[in-house]
Formats: sequence, C-alpha cells, structure tokens
Amino acid sequence: MIIIISGPPASGKGTQAQLLTKKLRMFHMDVGRMLRKIAKKNPKVENLLSKGKLVPNKQIATYLEKYLKDSRVKLDNIIFDGFPRTIEQYKYLKRWLSRKGLKINSLIYLDIKDETALRRLSARRTCTLCGSVYNLITNPPEKNEVCDECGGKLVQREDDKEDVIQKRLSLFKRETKPVLEMAREEGVLMRVDAERPIKTIFEEILTKLGVKDD
Ligand code: AMP
Repeated sequence: MIIIISGPPASGKGTQAQLLTKKLRMFHMDVGRMLRKIAKKNPKVENLLSKGKLVPNKQIATYLEKYLKDSRVKLDNIIFDGFPRTIEQYKYLKRWLSRKGLKINSLIYLDIKDETALRRLSARRTCTLCGSVYNLITNPPEKNEVCDECGGKLVQREDDKEDVIQKRLSLFKRETKPVLEMAREEGVLMRVDAERPIKTIFEEILTKLGVKDD
C-alpha cells in the first residue's frame, strides 16, 4: 500500500504516520526528518528549513530517491509523510511510482484550524539527537528538556517559532492545498478532522482504509 499523509504543520502527520507504520508494518518516509539530517551538513538546506521555505522540487526528488535506495525499502509499502507538498512533487511521485507499476492508494489529509497549529507548535519540542517529538502539554518528556528515548537535549525547532509558523501555514495553503484538490478529483483523498484525540483520528483512518483495529 502507498499512503501519503498531509496536512498543515502540527496536524499530527508524524504521530499518525508512526501509528500506521507500526500497525501496517509500513516504511515511514519522513521527508522533514530526512531534510533536517541533511541540513546538519548542508548550510543551504539549513537556511531554507529555518525560514520555513520549501527545498526545491528537483533537489527533494534526488534526496528522496537516494534515501529510499540506501534504506533498501520495499517500494510498495510506504507512508510518505510531508511529501508531496507541491503539485510538481505530486506529479513527480505519480510518474515515479507508475514506472514501477505502483500507484497512490490514499492521501490522508489531517485537517486542523490555523489557531490549533499555532497552539500546538508553540508547545512542541524536538530531540536534537534522535528527532523524537514531544508536546509540553499533551505529551511531555519525563525529565524537563531531556529526550526519554536517547537522553538528547530537547529544543524548539527554529521553524516552530511563531513568525515562521505563519509562513509555513500560508505555504501550505498556496502550494499543498492544490495537491489535495487534485487527489480529491482522482478519488484518493481521505479528509480527517484532526482536531480530535490521536486515538479517535487513528481509528477513523483505519476504518476508512478498510483495516480492522484489533
Ligand atoms: P516537516 O517536518 O514535515 O514539517 O518539514 C520541515 C521542513 O522541511 C519544511 O518546513 C520544509 O522547509 C522542508 N520540507 C519538508 N518536506 C518538504 C517537501 N516535500 N518539499 C520541500 N521542502 C520540504
């Protein structure tokens, strides 16, 4: 199965992708996380990310293909998280999949209000070592500012600061919403109200995917 999980920043893409990955034994292709790793060695990418700008489409395609090849991933069982974010990326993904005899089964759109994104992101903390994500209100670490998984330091991402969040929200509306519209026309869009608790959202996704939750 090939699933895309999309939505504005803080809609819970990573969280739902992780739950789905576990349940359906899929590969979680977290493009934002991949880019944050690349950014540590590439100042140009670092600069784009810290400003909340998109990495150019061609560059993303190159990184993605290399990453999937190096990870020896089974290409027919992937959740794409944070990709595609533009119509060009969407078309590229469809072409790339079709050359391998594959197609997108579902594009899950986690829908939240701008106010919710802002509220959630101001409480989000990310581990500088392993990339684990916490929320100081809904999912705090056991020890203040320390990652439960690896003991790394928890920080607020540069792009989770308010002025950058506003930019990321408008980018989502301008660049990514047209992707959702195209997916709707193609009959693969699954819109989910993501203002609700994590478990409720997950159950709805499983039901809509036709997977039994036992
Ligand atoms: P995320 O962790 O998904 O919120 O992504 C963090 C940042 O990585 C974004 O704000 C962009 O700067 C960059 N990024 C992630 N996915 C893409 C993509 N598909 N195309 C271009 N840039 C991306």
